[in-house]
Amino acid sequence: MKVKVGAYCRVSTEKDDQVNSLQSQKKYFEEYIRNNPDWEFVDIYADEGISGTQAENRMEFQRMISDAKNKRLDLILTKEISRFARNTKISIDYTRMLKELGVGVIFINDNINTLDGDGELRLTIMSAIAQDESRKTSERVKWGQKRRMEQGVVFGRELFGYNLYKGALTVNEEEAEIVRLIFHKYTIEGKGTHVIARELYEDNIQTKSYKNRWSNTVILRLLKNEKYVGDLAQKKTITPNYLNHKKKYNRGEEEIVYIKNHHTPIISRELWDETQEQLSQRSASKEQKSKYSNKYWCSGKLLCGECGSKFVGRSKKLKNGEVYKAWRCSHARSYGSIKIDVNGNQVGCNNKSINHIVLGKIVKSVLYSINSNKEKIISELVSEIRKLNKLTDIKSTDSFTRKIEDLNRKKQEVINLMLEGSISKDDMVLMNKRYDFEMNKVKTDIKHIEDINLINSGNADKLQIYIDRINSLVNQIEGKDSEEVFKLTVKKVTLFKNNLLELYLTCMPEPIKLKYRSKGKNGNYSVEYSFMDN
Ligand SMILES: [Zn+2]
Repeated sequence: MKVKVGAYCRVSTEKDDQVNSLQSQKKYFEEYIRNNPDWEFVDIYADEGISGTQAENRMEFQRMISDAKNKRLDLILTKEISRFARNTKISIDYTRMLKELGVGVIFINDNINTLDGDGELRLTIMSAIAQDESRKTSERVKWGQKRRMEQGVVFGRELFGYNLYKGALTVNEEEAEIVRLIFHKYTIEGKGTHVIARELYEDNIQTKSYKNRWSNTVILRLLKNEKYVGDLAQKKTITPNYLNHKKKYNRGEEEIVYIKNHHTPIISRELWDETQEQLSQRSASKEQKSKYSNKYWCSGKLLCGECGSKFVGRSKKLKNGEVYKAWRCSHARSYGSIKIDVNGNQVGCNNKSINHIVLGKIVKSVLYSINSNKEKIISELVSEIRKLNKLTDIKSTDSFTRKIEDLNRKKQEVINLMLEGSISKDDMVLMNKRYDFEMNKVKTDIKHIEDINLINSGNADKLQIYIDRINSLVNQIEGKDSEEVFKLTVKKVTLFKNNLLELYLTCMPEPIKLKYRSKGKNGNYSVEYSFMDN
């Protein structure tokens, strides 16, 4: 039976003479196939288009692939690897896929027949070259981004905390100290943007441009500026003449290019993440404030540990004129204790309510206990940080990187040996496979270590944030009234029945679990509690 053969060609229609060359390519391939007595001519697949852009028409390529899948082809002729698909890497991927379907590809200019014994080897070598190509491409992309950034910064606003020199951002240590101070005041000390602006003004700290004064909007913009964590967000403008001129809908379209770790950061990523979370939380609670009354420190922060509902407040005026305030699971308030309703669903909650004064006394006493055990807690956190940093130090990837270099050298040696004729192609393919296998293993190991190192150094930075908060807690307890301190330090309280509660504080990495007992009435309460082990 004859071998069923087709050919693929790709031409640009930008110039008229290339349309002619489509005809000549088709003719060339058809004759080439018909001249081989063992071959049966199937079809010529020809795509026209402007090379290198999205506008390229690849319908014929897809038709060829589907013919190959449907067993209408045994062999495909084409000119060269780099013209077969958008780039060499994709070409090779398609070629390998076709080979798995039993369809060979002959690249006439590259002198490769994928069904030949050394076809795979040649593809491997080409693939290595392609990798180099894509590396160069990404370097070009990076260079282009750097160029755009240069332009953006030169013509853009001045940036407090950085100096601009030859288009690169370098840290201005003096100003960076103020940037760190601002993030610290906002995220660690829980201060508002108005307060921070006032304090900077009072401390006679200058902004970069002397006509600008510190204001809440300046502070807010600074807290949201991703450049301080070392990232760069760029608006990428698609210029119409970059693509096909006909595609006018691309004009003016913009997308944001976000480059992580672009330059030296001023603040840690953990503090940045924390700050962004705080920013969205505080603006959300501001909205809430305008909708509902949010006058209590624990409003919206109490959660029922039994059913997951929010706790809501209820107040009543006592005979002696004092206001009695307590918090209760909203589900329990609506449905009472657990029961089955008319539809056969379980409703209600058995959680108890908690007196507002009792809750305040517990929190206050816990905060004081943290304050008086401050040294011990901090030293525990510090030793935790040391442990994490140590892990990061030990787990170096240097030896693995050397291993990869070593394997690459071996691969090159084997290629040389084959070219010299010292070993056979089959041996070379075999060795290459083994080296690739080892290489993948090492790469997986490196990835694993890098992941762990990243998590460890991230956790160490996070713990440092808690230490800073504990230290600033001390100042707050001394300077402010309790309500305000509670508002800043209590993130969440989960209440369970049997007088158990979990206190989530902004200054502690883990929630504090405790069991409490309260006695008294009419505003006079005594509270006892004991910490529970996790
Ligand atoms: Zn409940």
